[in-house]
Amino acid sequence: MAAINQNDLIDSIADAFQYISYYHPKDYIDALGLAYEREESPAARDAIAQILTNSKMSAQGHRPVCQDTGLAVVFVKLGMDVRWSGVTMVLAEMIHEGVRRAYTHTENPLRASVVLDPAGQRQNSRDNTPAIIHYDVVQGSNIEITVAAKGGGSENKAKFTTLMPSDSLADWIVDIVPSMGAGWCPPGMLGIGVGGTAEKAMLLAKESLMESIDMQVLKANGPQNKLEELRIEIYDRVNALGIGAQGLGGLTTVLDVKIKDYPTHAASLPVAVIPNCAATRHAHFVLDGSGPAVLTPPAPEDYPAIEWRAADDARRVDLGTVTAQDVASWKPGETLLLNGKFLTGRDAAHKRIKGLLDSGEGLPEGVNFEGRFIYYVGPVDPVGDEVVGPAGPTTSTRMDKFTDMMLSQTGLLGMVGKAERGPVAIEAIKKHKAVYLMAVGGAAYLVAKAIQSSRVVAFEDLGMEAIYEFEVRDMPVTVAVDSTGESVHQTGPKFWKNKIAQIPVVSA
Ligand code: SF4
Repeated sequence: MAAINQNDLIDSIADAFQYISYYHPKDYIDALGLAYEREESPAARDAIAQILTNSKMSAQGHRPVCQDTGLAVVFVKLGMDVRWSGVTMVLAEMIHEGVRRAYTHTENPLRASVVLDPAGQRQNSRDNTPAIIHYDVVQGSNIEITVAAKGGGSENKAKFTTLMPSDSLADWIVDIVPSMGAGWCPPGMLGIGVGGTAEKAMLLAKESLMESIDMQVLKANGPQNKLEELRIEIYDRVNALGIGAQGLGGLTTVLDVKIKDYPTHAASLPVAVIPNCAATRHAHFVLDGSGPAVLTPPAPEDYPAIEWRAADDARRVDLGTVTAQDVASWKPGETLLLNGKFLTGRDAAHKRIKGLLDSGEGLPEGVNFEGRFIYYVGPVDPVGDEVVGPAGPTTSTRMDKFTDMMLSQTGLLGMVGKAERGPVAIEAIKKHKAVYLMAVGGAAYLVAKAIQSSRVVAFEDLGMEAIYEFEVRDMPVTVAVDSTGESVHQTGPKFWKNKIAQIPVVSA
């Protein structure tokens, strides 16, 4: 029985987090390629093409598929007979060290998104530690490890309830999915945990997302038990909601539905659901004492031959000369190609701007939003000759409560982010005849290629949440809320839900 070396475990963890930052699992690529072929909604098809093109570019460039490189989640199955060599740390410290090395890698630094003191100062730990670790003790002398990098946008949409035993689990899921909006960057997966206790159900839901996508095989072979029947029922009913890629309306919202269960109390039916996003990232390996893990990347031919290109009728916008009259002429769902300069800002910057405006202090030098656009983003640091690392949009609803302030007090013309806006933001957009533009979440490396220059303008201490000025060339966005307050995240899914209802068999 060979001993497992501490350095091998640390190296394997570090390599695995690097690997999943730029390689989608092959099953995800295959399932998304199939969804692209079947998609009939032009907007959703365009979004899927961007995600697939981005995926291939990331694999080639060894740079993250998404600017949110995630919380590090690690599942450990520790054999009871494992022997160690070269040990100076406990297992958790080895895992944290592996995560630290992955996220501070010199050639492919990943974004540090973890904050310490979450209910207080929320200081960034700078190296994405600590990891979230789940242990299981099993038979044998090996260690089996699954790593996942879970983005905040999809993790924020996790739901839990305790149903009555006689309630329909499928009904609850189908009711709850529309309330998640599109901030979880569909198409992705739903992981469902059923039974146990509250915390057990949540853990089962997360664990289920580590399984491979096999819905098409399941549908072809037919369900063999109640859980498989439920998976198919939920998959079909959720896709029939018409939410579609990025919430733009379309045939595919989920590529698979996974369920794990556990015995529970006779009085309870705990149910948890956690979505996985367009940045589905996980890898699995076993250490048996023979050395560090070796992961096999997808081959170039595993990626579908899809190269996203802007539509011929896309409207080019010069951000240096754009006016309120131009904004008023943009139609919901229209594709724009942005050219010129805008400022960035997300949660922490908005909070600080509010504090400065409320106190009468005013905005710092160089921060002038008059007649300009803001892009909600927290980019990855650049390497080599990059001007910025992957820089896709973050979930815009978190900025909803600041929207009226920004539009009324700074002269801002419009915003760029991902997913839908809530009623408060839509009302403010309508009132100020502004606009909200949507970029594709999970296409961060593709978006970054449109950025020609980048400089920090203010709040440098906020790290990736600082205010930057980006200069972009032909950055693709969709008019998601026009100046009259019409939202494609409302009209798109409604249209496709009705259309799907008229199709005799829902897409498999
Ligand atoms: S794909 Fe969307 S939800 Fe997933 S990590 Fe990226 S921005 Fe977050």
